[in-house]
Amino acid sequence: MSTTPQSQTGAKAESVLEAQAPAFSSREAEAIAQRAFDIHATAHPLVSERDQNFHLLDKDGSEWVLKIANPAEKPALLGMQTQALLHIAQVDPSLGIPRVKLTPDGAPFHEVDGADGRRFIVRVLSFLPGQLLADATLLPVLVRDVGAITARLARALRGFFHPAARHELLWDLTQAPALRARTHHIEEQGRRRVVEEVLDHFEAEVLPRLKMQRAQIIHNDISCLNTLVEDNRVTGVIDFGDLIHAPLVCDLAVPIAELIREHPDPIAAAAEITAGYHAVTALEDEELRLIFDLVTTRCAMEVTVANWRVCEHPENTDYIMAGLPQAGAQLDRMREWGTERMYTALRRACAAPVTIRVSDFTGSSFDEDKLQSLIDRRRQRLGPNLELSYDKPLHIVRGEGVWLIDATGRSLLDAYNNVPSVGHCHPTVVQALARQAATLNTNTRYIYESVLEYADRLTATMPGDLSVCMFVCSGSEANDLAWRLAKAHTGNAGGIVMEDAYHGTTDAVFELSPAEYVDGRPLAEHIATVPAPDGYRGKFRRDDPLYSERYVACFDDAIASLDARGFAPAAYYLDLVLCSNGIMVPPPGYLAAAFEKVRSAGGVCVADEVQSGFGRTGDYFWGFEAHGVVPDIVTLGKPIGNGLSMAAVVTTPEIVASLTNESSFFSTTGGNPVSCTVGLAVLDVLEQEDLQACAARVGAILRSQIEKLAERHPLIGEVRGAGLFIGVELVRDHSTLEPATKETAAVVNRMCELGVLVGIEGPCSNVLKIRPPLVFDENHALQLTDALDRALGEI
Ligand code: PMP
Repeated sequence: MSTTPQSQTGAKAESVLEAQAPAFSSREAEAIAQRAFDIHATAHPLVSERDQNFHLLDKDGSEWVLKIANPAEKPALLGMQTQALLHIAQVDPSLGIPRVKLTPDGAPFHEVDGADGRRFIVRVLSFLPGQLLADATLLPVLVRDVGAITARLARALRGFFHPAARHELLWDLTQAPALRARTHHIEEQGRRRVVEEVLDHFEAEVLPRLKMQRAQIIHNDISCLNTLVEDNRVTGVIDFGDLIHAPLVCDLAVPIAELIREHPDPIAAAAEITAGYHAVTALEDEELRLIFDLVTTRCAMEVTVANWRVCEHPENTDYIMAGLPQAGAQLDRMREWGTERMYTALRRACAAPVTIRVSDFTGSSFDEDKLQSLIDRRRQRLGPNLELSYDKPLHIVRGEGVWLIDATGRSLLDAYNNVPSVGHCHPTVVQALARQAATLNTNTRYIYESVLEYADRLTATMPGDLSVCMFVCSGSEANDLAWRLAKAHTGNAGGIVMEDAYHGTTDAVFELSPAEYVDGRPLAEHIATVPAPDGYRGKFRRDDPLYSERYVACFDDAIASLDARGFAPAAYYLDLVLCSNGIMVPPPGYLAAAFEKVRSAGGVCVADEVQSGFGRTGDYFWGFEAHGVVPDIVTLGKPIGNGLSMAAVVTTPEIVASLTNESSFFSTTGGNPVSCTVGLAVLDVLEQEDLQACAARVGAILRSQIEKLAERHPLIGEVRGAGLFIGVELVRDHSTLEPATKETAAVVNRMCELGVLVGIEGPCSNVLKIRPPLVFDENHALQLTDALDRALGEI
């Protein structure tokens, strides 16, 4: 059975806005409903701009809408609407849209002759109850839901196509320039000029960019009169009369243009809608940039069409002009704001917490059994060594900015992950990654420029002779390669590391990582350790004016101990934030003196910047810079690719030459085109968003807030760190420094319940590890401090 009406005798070649609407009586409508659709109902007329609609109340209580189409409406378009409704009902049955009522012989429409000799297509759709969005109070949660529903509907239409989809439509933004033919109807000259300027700008600057955006069939009219609401949630969307194949983002311009019109904080409302949309379908950066112009153009369209229609239908002036003054005023206001202001607000909103429950649009909800079965499967398939964080492990499904969203839709403030340092799923990085992955990714034995550009940019941040990059895929590999370089360059085979150091997982690097040893496993023969310069609980403390020197002297012992075993140091490795030691900043002068001792014993100094690099410590881009030293080798990882597995060793030409003389080096995927493009994007974002300064500013605020908490919570022994790498040591007693290990675990788990993620660190597992993405701001800091305050208060 065809779902597209084939003919419509009597249809004139005129616009649906010009042709006279059908004029059936309620009695006639009832008769049609009964005869054609077997519905025995009473009919009441409903308002419609161009068709004739009746509300049908069946004897059995069911409610329908009988739609008699304007005869100028193209039959193919009515067919497209019907098929779209059928498609949506099939792919996302939970969406509130009208259902198509078929005739007893299975047809989705019926044709009737009118008294005026014209032929009309009649359809029946289910009636959706609910309040119109136009009459609802615009609470943020509702405004956000409008965005979410717009995205859900577009998502349901993604797989739908119809040959009539690209048609002439007054309300198609991509056809906006055609409105110039009607602007002369705008009587007020100033307003007309503004509208024409908007259309000129649109055609010259916006349309070319818009044409490059992803496109599909969209609803294109999610307006206040087409959206139904109940309990501050959108329950349905009606009127599929403006369906069109157009750039996806155009769909969003309609509700934004309408909802911000009377909203007391229009930009906040636009941001709210956009964030709701983005939570369902991530918007691309260019789409976010276009929204301002699309909304402005939509307003200009409304002004033009309304003025034109008033000229054509003076009898309907009141109805047509109802929203016009606001549309005109909004146009003026938006031109005052300018693109950048709205873009910034939208961009920020898209990185903010998502309050929409993921289960609302996936149909899944939190399920203890499912979680347990995933945990069991993980254990079985990945082995028992791979730990899970938190007593109640998290099932994370999305990340965004400083937020992680779990499978129940809960937003968790991420103050733990330093890998996504420019924010989870940063659009600039994601776009760079996607574009390059779609262009070229190959092994590294070819010439491509991104690797050179990236090496240039990276080494430009380094002092001295640190001018050669070697790219690998993980921090462990970088440290492993550094070990080979150090041995080749020095001819020595001994290593010096901190007690409780961690540098990675390869066999060689595992030996350099006593933090990973289980049950008193002894150090390898070629390794010596030095104590971390811990002035709080270490063997020399800050109250001793010579404590730093005493720690430096420990290098003599380490070198002597290696010597006694027949080794000289090839390298000394230091993680610049001493993370696995419990997070601390070495005292001034310590590092320079330690480097000197290692070098005089023939070793090189490796700055492991895997944790500390890329601006995290705030005052400097690299951790070692705070100590006025220049390492021989620097290893990079974690934040380098914002989550993409990439890492690097940066060193001097001489050291590289030493390895080259002895062996070759090749990493198949280390430094491939995708990695380097992503690395460049990360550097761009760090720069553009001034994230190092943010780490310094917010880090200082956060440390001082936590220090204030210490006045009320005696469990806090010491707050330390640099920038946004903070350690909070918890102790049971300030004089014995008895580690509050159990309490630390309890605080971390409670904070997780309160929606804030931090970790546990240190040899006694009594240090709170706080190292959020660098887009963490003052409000996030407050949220963290509040949760910490509560968790400590409950211990
Ligand atoms: N060095 C340091 C200081 C680290 O903290 C880590 C990882 N935690 C590594 C190296 C190893 O990095 P990856 O896990 O990427 O191999």
